[in-house]
Amino acid sequence: MTASSPPVDPFDLVIFGGTGDLALRKLLPAMFHRFLDGQIPEHSRVVGVAREALDDDGYRASIRNALVEAGGAKDKIEQFLGQVHYRPLDARKDEGWDDFAEMIGTQPDHVRVFYLSTSPELFVDICQRLGHHGLNEGKSRVVLEKPIGRDLASANRINDAVGQYFNESQTFRIDHYLGKETVQNLLALRFGNALFEPLWNAEHIDHVQITVAETLGVGRRGAYYDRAGALRDMVQNHILQLLCMVAMEPPYSLAPDAVRDEKLKVLRSLKHIDESNAAQLTVRGQYRAGAAEGQSVPGYLEELDGDTKSGTETFVAIKAEIDNWRWAGVPFYLRTGKRLPARVSEIVVVFKSVPHSIFNADAGPLAHNRLVLRLQPDEGVKLWLTIKHPGPGGLRLRHVPLDMSFAEAFGVQQPDAYERLLLDVVRGNPTLFMRRDEVEAAWKWADPILEAWAASNEPPRPYTAGTWGPSAAVALIERDGRTWNEDTD
Ligand code: NAP
Repeated sequence: MTASSPPVDPFDLVIFGGTGDLALRKLLPAMFHRFLDGQIPEHSRVVGVAREALDDDGYRASIRNALVEAGGAKDKIEQFLGQVHYRPLDARKDEGWDDFAEMIGTQPDHVRVFYLSTSPELFVDICQRLGHHGLNEGKSRVVLEKPIGRDLASANRINDAVGQYFNESQTFRIDHYLGKETVQNLLALRFGNALFEPLWNAEHIDHVQITVAETLGVGRRGAYYDRAGALRDMVQNHILQLLCMVAMEPPYSLAPDAVRDEKLKVLRSLKHIDESNAAQLTVRGQYRAGAAEGQSVPGYLEELDGDTKSGTETFVAIKAEIDNWRWAGVPFYLRTGKRLPARVSEIVVVFKSVPHSIFNADAGPLAHNRLVLRLQPDEGVKLWLTIKHPGPGGLRLRHVPLDMSFAEAFGVQQPDAYERLLLDVVRGNPTLFMRRDEVEAAWKWADPILEAWAASNEPPRPYTAGTWGPSAAVALIERDGRTWNEDTD
């Protein structure tokens, strides 16, 4: 076991939606990796639940491939599968729940984690039935996947209904971006070094950019995505959470509520965007046919099987501002989209330029220092500095990065965000999970933007697949005399 993998008490992890995409691609491989690291105690169980009529062996057979892809040796996979079980249940029907409750009840002292990896429409049914069988008591915890609602009202309905059976301290609203190594590192960089924090304010920071770009289109998730769109799918949760980690005041400790209190203050300080200013501060786009990764790809509307009327945005760029002392006047440019040229998630903190240049014009231009925190694909941090070009030839300036790719620097593959977060739930540590009031504050900011778009009757601007969104997104930042970060290597 590594020093970074402290042991946890035996637990049961029940995955509702255990046959679904998220379970197979992320949750089961994450548990398997923790198992390989010696972190899953004997007598712990992982229980898949879905409607499909499978027994334990049938389920094990159906997930074996996912574990092979997760890189496990055959004997390790079989050992892990010995701790994996399955129960067929319909969240909406009573049949089978007594048997399920009995099975979970055989280890009453265990931490019990119920991971709701299903459509949010089933959250209430599942929690209700868990409650009726007393499975919400003791060390029980529930994990809610996004999306938590599609606006403030629907988020409140879900939170109220879940809250009837699980109190806030038992409720873990997951945002896997918060489990990423770089986000943890943002905390370490900001609060573990004396270097950055004195500069971390409007006096020294020119602006911040947060980009979450995907090369993929909506693919098979079209039906879900068309009801959501980029603002609900990415900005309201992941991007705002990243913004909070950049902008929050130093918490007094890493205690869960110390961190979450500070994030909440940021969300509440976001400048209101509504019908009066949405046209200046936001850009919506929708991709048309183009090329991605060297292949021609269809447009969004074609992918939706001929629904040619959809006005759902697949791209959004926003100039956000935080109305408080630290950040007054510092724009936070946010951008996310599908079918963009590169798969990249990053936070770029751009510092102000030096007040006066002592160098000759032929030394080259003085560039802004930039701190780039890359979340994917290669997690790492780059600090761009100006240095003298080495060797003879006079004093010529060069802008170069101090580059720390985590995988290269530490020679280890970083654990997937889900590995860390699942174990945090088992430990009962909610620091990296969203509290109910954070979700509400995020919707309070997002709802008026959605309403302004709906009221404008303007369709999203088209952009060609494989480009960085509509030209208006470039204009959004360039009219402030700034440019989007282009170093995406
Ligand atoms: P999915 O592939 O459609 O899987 C849904 C799962 O729910 C299946 O196991 C399905 O199995 C089960 N299910 C459906 N109706 C049920 C019922 N009445 N009772 C019990 N089980 C039922 O969906 P997914 O992609 O895994 O996503 C799951 C949730 O996570 C969604 O809310 C999604 O928005 C969210 N999410 C997914 C991803 C991702 O990468 N996939 C990322 C972030 C968030 P049966 O049909 O056999 O019952």
